Amino acid sequence: MRSPYFTKDHELFRQTVRQFMENEVVPQADVWEKDQRIPRDIWQKMGALGFLGINFPETYGGAAADFFYSVVFLEEVGRTGLGGFAAAVAVQQYMATAHLYHVGSEELKRKYLVPSISGEKVGALAITEPNTGSDVANLQTRAVREGDHYVINGSKTFITNGVYGDFVTVAVKTDPDAGLDGISLIVVDTDTPGFSAKKLRKMGWHCSDTGELAFDEVRVPTTHLIGEENRGFYYIMESFQLERLVGSLTAIGGMEKALDITLQYISEREAFGRPIAKFQAIRHTLADLAAELEAAKQLTYHAAYLCDQGETFVREASMAKLITSELGKKLVDGCLQFFGGYGYMDEYPISRMYRDARVGTIAGGTSEIMREIISRIMIERVRYESIYQEKASE
Ligand SMILES: Cc1cc2nc3c(=O)[nH]c(=O)nc-3n(C[C@H](O)[C@H](O)[C@H](O)COP(=O)(O)OP(=O)(O)OC[C@H]3O[C@@H](n4cnc5c(N)ncnc54)[C@H](O)[C@@H]3O)c2cc1C
Repeated sequence: MRSPYFTKDHELFRQTVRQFMENEVVPQADVWEKDQRIPRDIWQKMGALGFLGINFPETYGGAAADFFYSVVFLEEVGRTGLGGFAAAVAVQQYMATAHLYHVGSEELKRKYLVPSISGEKVGALAITEPNTGSDVANLQTRAVREGDHYVINGSKTFITNGVYGDFVTVAVKTDPDAGLDGISLIVVDTDTPGFSAKKLRKMGWHCSDTGELAFDEVRVPTTHLIGEENRGFYYIMESFQLERLVGSLTAIGGMEKALDITLQYISEREAFGRPIAKFQAIRHTLADLAAELEAAKQLTYHAAYLCDQGETFVREASMAKLITSELGKKLVDGCLQFFGGYGYMDEYPISRMYRDARVGTIAGGTSEIMREIISRIMIERVRYESIYQEKASE
């Protein structure tokens, strides 16, 4: 479909990414899911092709491409139908490294951002704790300054890339009495003494290493502070809008794939002497889902446009995350139905997509929290201002 957002170059890039994903990722899906691990070489391959740097400046090995290259990339990553892989890539490229890029020192950018772009290092972002997720301000992990080091104690949970990653951007309390104004972000190498990670077993996203992290007297140099001390809460809130947009884009890619394989299946499967694609009940259900997907996609593209223009897009990103993740569950469920019994079998990708879609309304901010943000903007007229001045594509 023609779109005002994409040029011929974007579409050429889409073909390149799709070919890579179809050759290098999709055939490996079952193995990675079984191993509960994404092999290192796939990061290096993506790095070598420049995929992991499209959203970063050339000085750090990136391509400084406009945000619609990220839209294309994330849709194609989602289109693998491998939710755990999409989550791992999204965290690496748009979450763990986002704060480093925006407010990290030059030293930190050289040490963590550059090797993340080349695929040599994998990063995680650790905000959620066993006792607090949505309520970020209530986090308890503590960092105390001792000379030129911080000493970190506490725990984090549900952390993507947390087990096999090389570094973690960790949200900590540096001033426990200051509420929102007492949170900071610090980078921790996962081989630092006192750091440990345990892999969690979960319903879907099996190839993604979701970890519970423990910090026991972990000492890191004060130079590992990202940005200013006690400004972490605001950095986190600023980045949430991008994270939610990114999650919406991978969800859209996944839904398009689910719809495509369903259309293929219903044209081949026969019942009562006809392809099941001829049954109106099936056709109309899929028509409804396709229409809802198109609406969700256009809302998400609008959020992406605002992001590309350097505008605040909290409202649109929250709406897009809400709509795409809720639709993700409904659409995959609807599609699976038309695979009949085969849809319930592990060897059919639609079965994995069904499991993977469930977490969409939880991870990266729950649907309830999205509704809360939208209501505050709508009813209390809360205004969110960007704390970063530059455009996302610069
Ligand atoms: C597979 C997976 C990967 C993840 N990856 C990461 C990661 O890489 N890094 C990271 O930091 N976190 C990660 N998370 C954590 C995720 O972001 C949190 O699970 C999520 O933000 C919800 O927090 P919680 O689980 O503590 O739930 P809670 O905050 O305890 O919420 C429980 C329920 O209460 C509801 N609720 C809470 N507050 C309100 C309110 N004000 N109004 C209405 N309802 C409310 C919630 O919507 C939810 O339904 C991941 C989670 C999963 C499952």
